[in-house]
Amino acid sequence: MLLLRKAIISNSKRFKTNWIQPEGYDTGIKVYNCVTRTKVPLVVANKSCVTMYTCGPTVYDSAHIVRVTDNMTLIVKFIKKLFDEKFAYKSEDGSVYFDVSQYENYGKLQKIGENTLEVNTGGIKNSPADFALWKAAKPNEPYWDSFFGPGRPGWHIECSALAGNIIGSSVDIHAGGIDLRFPHHENEEAQSCTFFSKPQWVNYWLHTGHLHLRDSVKMSKSLKNTISIQDMLKTVNPVVFRVACLLSHYRSNIEYSSDLIFTAEKVLSGIKNFTDDCNSFLKGQLQSTIDNKSLIESLSETMTAVDNALQDDFNTPVVIESIHHLMTVTNKMLHTPSTNSNYLNHSVYVTAVMNFVLEIFKVFGVDVLSKQINDKEVNDYSDIIDVLIKFRQNVRQLGISERNENALKLCDETRDELRNLGVYIKDHGKISSWSR
Ligand SMILES: [Zn+2]
Repeated sequence: MLLLRKAIISNSKRFKTNWIQPEGYDTGIKVYNCVTRTKVPLVVANKSCVTMYTCGPTVYDSAHIVRVTDNMTLIVKFIKKLFDEKFAYKSEDGSVYFDVSQYENYGKLQKIGENTLEVNTGGIKNSPADFALWKAAKPNEPYWDSFFGPGRPGWHIECSALAGNIIGSSVDIHAGGIDLRFPHHENEEAQSCTFFSKPQWVNYWLHTGHLHLRDSVKMSKSLKNTISIQDMLKTVNPVVFRVACLLSHYRSNIEYSSDLIFTAEKVLSGIKNFTDDCNSFLKGQLQSTIDNKSLIESLSETMTAVDNALQDDFNTPVVIESIHHLMTVTNKMLHTPSTNSNYLNHSVYVTAVMNFVLEIFKVFGVDVLSKQINDKEVNDYSDIIDVLIKFRQNVRQLGISERNENALKLCDETRDELRNLGVYIKDHGKISSWSR
């Protein structure tokens, strides 16, 4: 094996390099780079457009949208170029293998031990590290005719051909699950660098953690511990699942459980309640003591914290934590009743805080006020509800001042009935506000 490794290195005609920081627009973001094993500046080719290719999960299910079978001609052309330029060879059984000895940078993404190279020594390859570009047809398996004879593409060539065709000879970001780093992405990089005659095809490889079931290892079809996307969506709102993903860093594993979904739902309803209270305040229904100086300071600090967290390898859990802190500070002020009888303390900063919170979640694809989340569709009878709430508030104030328990009981009944219709009344001392 040692001799083999030496042979690979001495025979190399290609590039020997580590990671090359690309030229272009520095986004100010730092991302984890599996080649350098450090966080590095994210520099993209164009300021206004990032090219990104993501491998689908290996779930053998309807999550896939890019069909390999629709792109067979493209894939065969890709292999033929490697074959014609002698970076690939045909084995005895009619399969075509990539010749790893022609590519010196093999093991760039994941340091390869000799044990790894010993895998798949079938005897028909020149070297154990060589991988299939085209697999010769076997009985009872689907196959396509090609220049090399009947067969089907190797697993790795599919993504190289598709991404190379769509994006080209340089890709800003290529993503996928951490299990795809080796051998899939390693092989993609090797064959694409060779195809395009470049020392680096993908500038940034980003890998996500796995989704685990509680008390289980990675979800995998072979382990029969998967939940299909369709089944999950029967009970979980997709926006809630998106929030659940934001609660963990993208490189971390996620433990999927009802607790996780419950937490995500709580985060969403917390924001919804918060915006309701902000709107009640802005409509003058909620008369609060707002410390403008302190609020604008909190908003400014949160904006900086969110910016820093996103620039630090997209640290979404810190973003959620920072937003939660800002909402807690603001909520405390909103729920401190004003003692000023000539109440005119409408703070523009409450609007600024609310808009910031909503905007950040919109960036993550979560529109807190969308009907997708608020699935109980209510007709917009706001004006009528306003009149009703005002009437109830007057009756209630009368009930309080005259200590009339019957009047107060009627107010409670109206509140409960409206709740059943999706209209929520909150009493704040003698004042009432409402939300949907
Ligand atoms: Zn792929």
